[in-house]
Amino acid sequence: MTKIAMIRCEKNSERCPLTNCFRCLMEKKEGFARYNDCQPMGVFTCRCPGENAADLGKILKSKGAEAIHFTTCSFAKKTDEGWSLKNGGFCDDLDKIIERVHRETGLPCIKGTAHLPKDYSLKVWV
Ligand code: SF4
Ligand code: SF4
Repeated sequence: MTKIAMIRCEKNSERCPLTNCFRCLMEKKEGFARYNDCQPMGVFTCRCPGENAADLGKILKSKGAEAIHFTTCSFAKKTDEGWSLKNGGFCDDLDKIIERVHRETGLPCIKGTAHLPKDYSLKVWV
């Protein structure tokens, strides 16, 4: 049973309560399809310019998180043709932020949660 934490972007924190993120996690779909068994462990909110993310990751680890996922809306956008990488999501620096969280926590960090764009291969820092 892998304990999953999520870090979302503050720019979407008052519009989406991670509804599809949680649904996919519980159903082991999309960004969570890699797990045989997993459970939600906690959620934190990144704040621009992302300096807090590594500390959030350390707290999540101390609470038992075994992997940290970053929400899809941070790097992809909803379009008429579905979710797309074109034009990006809320964050221009997400890869750097994820890299730092991974480096400072040692935890697997995964870029993606729900509704992955069609042309996207899940990016994982292990
Ligand atoms: S990835 Fe989708 S479900 Fe998750 S927080 Fe962003 S908009 Fe909401
Ligand atoms: S640094 Fe990126 S992920 Fe963090 S709040 Fe700002 S835009 Fe969102």
